[in-house]
Amino acid sequence: MSGDIARVSELVRKLIREVPDFPEPGVQFKDLTPLLADAEGLGAVTDALAATAADADLVAGLDARGFLLGAAVATRLGVGVLAVRKGGKLPPPVHSVTYQLEYGSATLEIPADGIDIAGRNVVIIDDVLATGGTLAAASRLLEAGGATVRSAAVVLELTALGGREVVAPLQVSSLHTV
Ligand code: AMP
Repeated sequence: MSGDIARVSELVRKLIREVPDFPEPGVQFKDLTPLLADAEGLGAVTDALAATAADADLVAGLDARGFLLGAAVATRLGVGVLAVRKGGKLPPPVHSVTYQLEYGSATLEIPADGIDIAGRNVVIIDDVLATGGTLAAASRLLEAGGATVRSAAVVLELTALGGREVVAPLQVSSLHTV
């Protein structure tokens, strides 16, 4: 492990707040607020995520913490950012995808007007890779719009939940794993 990667991983470990039993019993919620509010933490994470995505010409940030990280990464790369929103937030027309959660389903949307992502090389940025359902759905949504999803990058990967296998063959980089 290079010094830089080890340093970023340690910063992430140190600056994430663990919240037991949120939003429901049995879930160990990883709160990135202290990391994002820390100048060194935000800078290091932004640089490390951007380093995984040098060939992207558009960043897609996933609702909601992926918006903050995605915009920061896009600025570093010198490209724009597209917010992938939860269902019902955007005015029509939209492209949307609905996917299964453990209980019920969820929808992600992007505008169908005002931005043409056909032919764009996209990197998806989010905070946490858990079961992988959100990332896989976002990738399908962007590809349905004609984009090529080159890779994805997250700050934290919860390996026990197997998200990496769910999103395969999409390559995901994570800065810290637990
Ligand atoms: P998943 O679709 O299960 O990979 O979940 C990914 C999304 O849910 C990410 O956008 C995360 O923000 C959020 N998420 C899932 N599990 C956690 C967790 N334990 N702590 C914080 N955020 C989580």
